[in-house]
Amino acid sequence: MRVIEAPSPNHEPRAAGVPLDTVVVHYTGMPTAAQAIDRLRDPAAKVSAHYLIETGGRVLRLVPEGRRAWHAGVACWQGLSDINSRSIGIELVNRGHAWGYHPFPESQLESLRVLLADILARYGIPPARVLGHSDVAPERKTDPGELFPWRTLAAHGLAVWPDPVQPPAETPPVAWFQARLAAVGYCTPQSGRLDDATAAVLAAFQRRFRPKAVTAAPDTGTAARLMGLTASA
Ligand SMILES: [Zn+2]
Repeated sequence: MRVIEAPSPNHEPRAAGVPLDTVVVHYTGMPTAAQAIDRLRDPAAKVSAHYLIETGGRVLRLVPEGRRAWHAGVACWQGLSDINSRSIGIELVNRGHAWGYHPFPESQLESLRVLLADILARYGIPPARVLGHSDVAPERKTDPGELFPWRTLAAHGLAVWPDPVQPPAETPPVAWFQARLAAVGYCTPQSGRLDDATAAVLAAFQRRFRPKAVTAAPDTGTAARLMGLTASA
């Protein structure tokens, strides 16, 4: 695919001995694409991503894949915290929740699928390691958000989606949710209580796998999706 070089100075060496095994999808969350691109290339902002995809589908490369870009921030997945060293970050131009969140156009998603398929094949990254920023930073981030079509991505083999499972008759205890969320990969307290961090993880899970009802509370529908996702794991 055609990629336009738009180098950002915001990168550094990846940590030694860490595999590149993750992709993190973001939205830019700024009023215009130009503002987002400027910020991701501004040395003072200290943020970047490897790729940015415009709404029309144009793909920009800001940071070489071999370098550590600064997109995930304080983050965690499967107990691992240096997500930037092990990931490729992809920004999708979208105004985001603060500036007028809107559906991702098909032209943009088509470019994303081509780019993801290429990255996953080249590094041998499994679909389960294609994550949203909110998955790895649930207390701070909501991108790429509930309009991002994870299910379609999964249908292309580029992400995971739960198998359909009959919901349990009653909502399981909080500890059950905490254990299942951790099994999926979410860094989740195992406190047995619906604390703030657990609520944030529940919201992140729902935003991704049940986007029509992001309640941050345990319920049978969320339990069914967790069962469908971890059944074969
Ligand atoms: Zn982000």
